[in-house]
Amino acid sequence: MSLANKLAEERRGRLAAERLLELKQAELSAANRKLGKHAAALQGEIVETRAEVATVKTENERVKTELGQANQKVEIAERRLWHSVQTITDGFAFFNSDNQMIAANSAYLVIFGGLEIVKPGVNYVTLLQVMTEEGIVNTGSLAPDDWRQMMTERWMQPQPEPITIRMWNDQYVKLVDRRGQGGDIVSLGHNITESVEYQIQLKAARAEAEAASRAKSAFLANMSHEIRTPMNGVVGMAELLGDTGLSEEQQLYVDTIKNSGEALLVIINDVLDYSKIEAQKLQLHPEPFDLERSIHEVIMLLQPSARDKNLTLLVDFDLFLPTAYIGDPGRIRQVLTNLMGNAVKFTSEGHVLVRVTGVPDPDSGQADVTIVIEDTGIGIPEDKIDHIFGEFNQVENERNRQFDGTGLGLAISQRLVALMEGEMWVTSEDGVGSCFGFRIPLALSDSDLPEHPPVPDGLRRVLVVDDIEANRTILRRQLEQMGLGVVCCSSGAEALENMTDIDLVLTDHNMPEMDGLELADAMRAAGHDTPILLLSSNPSFAANDPGAAHLHAIMQKPVPRADLFARLQSVGPLVDSQAPLAPVQRRKMRVLAAEDNKTNQLVFGKMVKGAEIEFVFANNGLEAVEKFESFKPDLIFMDISMPKMDGKEAATKIREIEAKSGGHVPIVALTAHAMDGDDQGILASGIDHYLTKPLRKPEIHGKLREMCPEEALPPFAEEDDRQAG
Ligand code: ADP
Repeated sequence: MSLANKLAEERRGRLAAERLLELKQAELSAANRKLGKHAAALQGEIVETRAEVATVKTENERVKTELGQANQKVEIAERRLWHSVQTITDGFAFFNSDNQMIAANSAYLVIFGGLEIVKPGVNYVTLLQVMTEEGIVNTGSLAPDDWRQMMTERWMQPQPEPITIRMWNDQYVKLVDRRGQGGDIVSLGHNITESVEYQIQLKAARAEAEAASRAKSAFLANMSHEIRTPMNGVVGMAELLGDTGLSEEQQLYVDTIKNSGEALLVIINDVLDYSKIEAQKLQLHPEPFDLERSIHEVIMLLQPSARDKNLTLLVDFDLFLPTAYIGDPGRIRQVLTNLMGNAVKFTSEGHVLVRVTGVPDPDSGQADVTIVIEDTGIGIPEDKIDHIFGEFNQVENERNRQFDGTGLGLAISQRLVALMEGEMWVTSEDGVGSCFGFRIPLALSDSDLPEHPPVPDGLRRVLVVDDIEANRTILRRQLEQMGLGVVCCSSGAEALENMTDIDLVLTDHNMPEMDGLELADAMRAAGHDTPILLLSSNPSFAANDPGAAHLHAIMQKPVPRADLFARLQSVGPLVDSQAPLAPVQRRKMRVLAAEDNKTNQLVFGKMVKGAEIEFVFANNGLEAVEKFESFKPDLIFMDISMPKMDGKEAATKIREIEAKSGGHVPIVALTAHAMDGDDQGILASGIDHYLTKPLRKPEIHGKLREMCPEEALPPFAEEDDRQAG
């Protein structure tokens, strides 16, 4: 190989090496550049990471501080809470679901007197054990075992009821336990000793106050009773003095004494009743009685004042409602007298209607009887309706002021009705009228419901004549329910035009233009011989009218249903209406009065003076029984308290004699006060009625008239009667 070749080859080798070098250098610088870039990027990242670390560090510091603060707060709150729990005087503890105590405040623990065993971890059942064994609790009537069992059972309830336990030292602790979620129980023990003691004191004070109030009422009751006895003397003597021929001036004084005395007696009786109710001394005395008769008795009493004012008294006793019940007739009559008396008192024209309804329930043997008294009087302003039931409360306005009264009547009636387990109400329109009502449950005394009375033979159509619509309606309904045809007329003239096909005329007495007696005259004059029944609120007055000769009968208005039906039975084809009420020779009514007190005999004798009767006294019960047999009285007035044999015994004897010989003489008891509590025995002894002292002439005369048998002469002539009425 030549040198040149060698040189060329060497040059080529060098060139190649130089190129390789250049290449490597280029690669190196590229790598260098890349490395530089990477280093720069890394540098950026490091800066960023450092910043982040710094932030995290700060954050960490803040969180640490806050956590510290929060922990501090929790600690404070916990400390405060516990401090509070410790401070409260009530016991506080909580237990886990295994009934182990987690913690308790010192008030809770103190009752265990520092016993070692009582500390967190102790079981509730162990606590109960400790309480009984150490005598911490007073288990009262329960044996310790039973007490623990009762307390454990209570504790196991999902939500135990609070319970009050008595501690050994007569402190009372009310335990309130609340189960939380997870079965934990928070237990609170309130010391309620003070309030228990307060309650005991309160109860004692209340009992004392009630006893004092009862004593006061009892005193009032006794006092009124005592005042009444001499007042009876004052009134009775004033009445007698009035009959001794006095000058006009003297008569005025005597009347004033009598009226004031009577007014005072009404007040005293009201106060007596009210205080008796308040003293809880008033008892009801249920017995069989006739409700319809009681209502009519009250009507009879009110009839004179109603007649004076020209008021009509009406009774609408539901035809299919029984009249025989078991109840306290005296008290029911008292309520009726108050409500009906008020209705008459506060009504100057129109009518007073007593409506009796009810549905008897033969299964229970009871009826809810509703009695409503409607009047067309002055009414009661709406804002006074509740007021009037209060004691001594009255409506005070111009119209009302002219009426006297105590304002106790409604308060007493309402309480009596409540005692009978009933209720009372009133509706009223000022200036139009009032409607007082009460509903009482009454046991049926006779389980048979009233029979439909048979329609008398030959009676089909009845003509009813009355100017008062309410009366026509009542009669129409009663007669129609019997199956009779009824034609109603509001005047005599109208009646005369409607006489075709009429079998009986039922006419009111007192009507404008043509009254019932004039109508009877006119009917006969027109050739009608139809029987005529006159309904009059003053029958003895009507009986003395020449027109009475045309009447089949005169009946006291309002007519009890039974009387009306009985009268209708007597009207038939056999009745000869041309020969009515033949005046037969009649004897005098025989009246016996048993009364031991001479003054009372004097008063009584004067009161019946002028009556066309045969009259004898018996000085005691024994004599009364003897005279009952020898004198054969038509009516007996019987004092209750008499020596040898009292009025009740005498009545029982008389009823025994009658049981053998037959008959039933009405006996009217004379009592100091119907409500004295001895009235239960009075009626049980066979006495039919009673009058309360002071005796009043109109009442005695009323009884004489009412009880006079048909075969005896009426006890009073027309003039006396009007005086009495
Ligand atoms: P007294 O009738 O003795 O005043 P009451 O308690 O019986 O007492 O009645 C209280 C008051 O109620 C009466 O004074 C009267 O103002 C009013 N009152 C009662 N009944 C009626 C009635 N039927 N019509 C109008 N007002 C009446």
